[in-house]
Amino acid sequence: MYRSEKESNRLGRFLSAFYPDERAESVYEINFEAWYRKGFRGLEFDVDNTLVPHGAPADARSVELFRKLRGIGFRTCLISNNRRARVMPFAEALGTEFISMANKPFTGGYRRGCTVLGTDEQHTLFIGDQLFTDVWGARRAGIYTILVNPINPKEEIQIVLKRKLEKKVLDCYDRDRRG
Ligand SMILES: [Mg+2]
Repeated sequence: MYRSEKESNRLGRFLSAFYPDERAESVYEINFEAWYRKGFRGLEFDVDNTLVPHGAPADARSVELFRKLRGIGFRTCLISNNRRARVMPFAEALGTEFISMANKPFTGGYRRGCTVLGTDEQHTLFIGDQLFTDVWGARRAGIYTILVNPINPKEEIQIVLKRKLEKKVLDCYDRDRRG
């Protein structure tokens, strides 16, 4: 289908509301020391498919990451839409603050996270795996956002459909980035 350049620009502007500020392969490959040097002091993390596969308990890798983050000087908070029964034991294993039933993409949870962290939106990073909850909400809350690839490749059907939509947005994002 032929699409004029103007229409494609308009679509790009609309989709850009969902663009992350940055992308990374995985939360385990982010250079957090560098973010600390840039002035960031608080980190907010999505849990499922960002730190571990959906529903999985904290593992050695995630515990080690949070130990390292504390060592750098970061304060951390999990921001999850999942229930307290899921998020609290996970947060305890990692030694981190948490907000469960966060209602992402509404902005309240991200902002409460900053209060818990004792930071503000300008000095806090959000890291998550979903565009239409994690990224969209964090961006609107005014928080710098890193999108990571989901850990678990086997996902429920409604998530699979959402991923197809996400892929369309990310194709535009990559195209815009290449300019
Ligand atoms: Mg997630």
